[in-house]
Amino acid sequence: MPCLPCTRDVQQRPLRDIPMSQQDLPSKATYRGSCLCGAVHYEVDGDILFASHCHCSMCRKAHGAAFGSYGGVPSDKFRFTRGNDVVRTFASSPGVERRFCQHCGSPLTWTSHQHPDYVAFTLGTLETPLPMPAGMRHIHVASKAPWYEICDSLPRADGDG
Ligand SMILES: [Zn+2]
Ligand SMILES: [Zn+2]
Repeated sequence: MPCLPCTRDVQQRPLRDIPMSQQDLPSKATYRGSCLCGAVHYEVDGDILFASHCHCSMCRKAHGAAFGSYGGVPSDKFRFTRGNDVVRTFASSPGVERRFCQHCGSPLTWTSHQHPDYVAFTLGTLETPLPMPAGMRHIHVASKAPWYEICDSLPRADGDG
């Protein structure tokens, strides 16, 4: 079945079509994001080291969506700037913590004790425009929802890639 709805995806523009100023963003910018109700705000200092669309069943449930999209940065590059007191934590599996806003439920971060120096934050809560992060990939594709078809050319991995 062809992926017609996705062929208009602007993210698939060749990199050369993106102005140089935007190409420079990932290593220079501070990205800002917030939850749906606005109680929680955060900042991320650029260099997004890894990025993924995770299709595992837990991310699908946590996001209520076909997949969860994350950018990964060193822990000291991510900070909550407002609403820290309303951020709640759910341990979705041993050693894994998902943080979210207690008021609106927006998923905000994912951390694992296996990777204590990094935090993955949810790209869907960003307000600062983010060009396609280098290394973006689909992971846990083996757990993908059957009603969703991956329609882009990003790398795919059955596991955590
Ligand atoms: Zn909220
Ligand atoms: Zn996942």
